Amino acid sequence: MERFLKGIDASPGVAIGKVFLYKEVELYIDKGEAGNVEVEKERLIEGRNKTKNQLLAIREKTAKKLGEDKAAIFDGHITLLEDEDLFDEVVELIEDENIKAENALDQGIAGYCDMLANLEDEYLRERAADLRDIAKRWLYNITGIQIVDLSALPKDSVVVARDLTPSDTAQLDLDNVVAFVTDIGGKTAHSSIMARSLEIPAVVGTGNITELLKGGEEIIVDALTGDIIINPSEEEKDIYIAKREGYIAEKELLKQLKDKEAISKDGIKVGTWGNIGSPKDVKGVLKNGANGIGLYRTEFLFMAQDRFPSEDEQFEAYKAVAESMAPHPVTIRTMDIGGDKSLPYMELPHEENPFLGWRALRICLDRPEILKTQFRALLRASAFGYIKIMLPMVISIEECRRAKALLEECKAELVAEGIKFDGDIQLGIMVETPAVAFRARWFAEEVDFFSIGTNDLTQYTLAVDRGNERISKLYDTYNPGVLAAIKAAIDGAHEGGITISMCGEFAGDDRATALLFGMGLDAFSMSAISVPRIKKNIMNIEKGAAEALVDRVMRKSTTAEVLEEVDRFNKEVLGR
Ligand code: PEP
Ligand code: MG
Repeated sequence: MERFLKGIDASPGVAIGKVFLYKEVELYIDKGEAGNVEVEKERLIEGRNKTKNQLLAIREKTAKKLGEDKAAIFDGHITLLEDEDLFDEVVELIEDENIKAENALDQGIAGYCDMLANLEDEYLRERAADLRDIAKRWLYNITGIQIVDLSALPKDSVVVARDLTPSDTAQLDLDNVVAFVTDIGGKTAHSSIMARSLEIPAVVGTGNITELLKGGEEIIVDALTGDIIINPSEEEKDIYIAKREGYIAEKELLKQLKDKEAISKDGIKVGTWGNIGSPKDVKGVLKNGANGIGLYRTEFLFMAQDRFPSEDEQFEAYKAVAESMAPHPVTIRTMDIGGDKSLPYMELPHEENPFLGWRALRICLDRPEILKTQFRALLRASAFGYIKIMLPMVISIEECRRAKALLEECKAELVAEGIKFDGDIQLGIMVETPAVAFRARWFAEEVDFFSIGTNDLTQYTLAVDRGNERISKLYDTYNPGVLAAIKAAIDGAHEGGITISMCGEFAGDDRATALLFGMGLDAFSMSAISVPRIKKNIMNIEKGAAEALVDRVMRKSTTAEVLEEVDRFNKEVLGR
């Protein structure tokens, strides 16, 4: 049997444990006659009630562990479960064809999923997967199959599964589960994002690990590199026990930096900020010693319900974050919907190239009432802390001016209404397109600050879809063209006299710290978990040496040469 496997390091850490193989129990569908139609209907309803109660319990657990916005996923699941059309269709099948409840439900769901899967709307198409997940639970409950309880597993379990749904991940018993490993998935999959918030090591996308295991095997999960070892030797175990201890010790050591500032050896201070998706994430930001929020992705607030959040609802969320972070800055990005993030209630048109289409600021400027509601909520919340407003997906000066005019309109309205706000509130933009990066000097005249969104800047500079697995090897922020765009943005900001931070994933890449610091980045904003490591890097670098590194790197012509130079520096200076 293959003992060594490689997957994607989705959430950092090292674990050694016993495999808990999470495989679905084979479902037996009785194709016989119903016997008593009323009894079958009763079984259907009982199964549904049981399923609803289980989903409510999972929802509650998720809300406690991960916050309301993540828990809201299960509200959508319950709505699907209680869909009356689906229910009526299944009852009709029981009555007309005189079949058992599980058979009717299985057929009814298949028809319903086919219908959803053929719809144009991407969001509704994705609901087919949710419905299958819920239906499985419902069928298990009808047929009396015990659903595996992931919340009560033996000590030191490593959960190995084909994939983990959000409900599976939310249930994981964190006292006893030391890691999880899946066949499929990527870094941005739901389960990976949850693993990072829960700080549990995870390796995803191994291909076929579930086919190689029976359960109960010893396993090493190195979620720092994505390496998996099955049935390790004593020697291998010793090596990884040491690695795990080293990682834990480093994490503890890094915690001591919590209250320290990120100041380089020669006294240059930079911001180390956190990225968040909801007010609940502020806890992790503070725990990891970030001194600000460089990106609050407000889309999740818009995605959590089946309608636009009202001005008051938005105000409450922004105010909560501003208050808990005060006096530190909180950079709140206006709605960045479109691309891969859809809003079902907005009925966004189907587009051939959604990442190049009607998204983010483009939608907001075409539908100014949406942007004005958000601006008013942000302005009102600015009276309770230090809020900065940031616009995504900018390509032109005109867009900045139009957004600024709308902001001024909102300010005037609030003044007339006698409502307090921060009169000096800053309006900044994300640098996510080459159009802005290479003309940064001109944009700096128009706005108060920049933040580089490398996730999109990389995709737009290289013309490589950030979500397309087939070309993921081409998606490379160390490509000299992308580095040139980043450097141009930083230089342009400083020539124009404004500050520039970075809130794309690259800011949390500890291989890139010296390079970005040398280019003159003013603040790094990242997943909270990365903050201590980036802080430590900054504390060990001298600005002059980092600038010299940038000089050498910018003369290189390939990614490989860039990385060679960067790695040499990191080894000498950071011991990395
Ligand atoms: C980015 O593009 O780098 C960014 C931070 O925005 P998002 O990942 O939300 O598109
Ligand atoms: Mg972006």
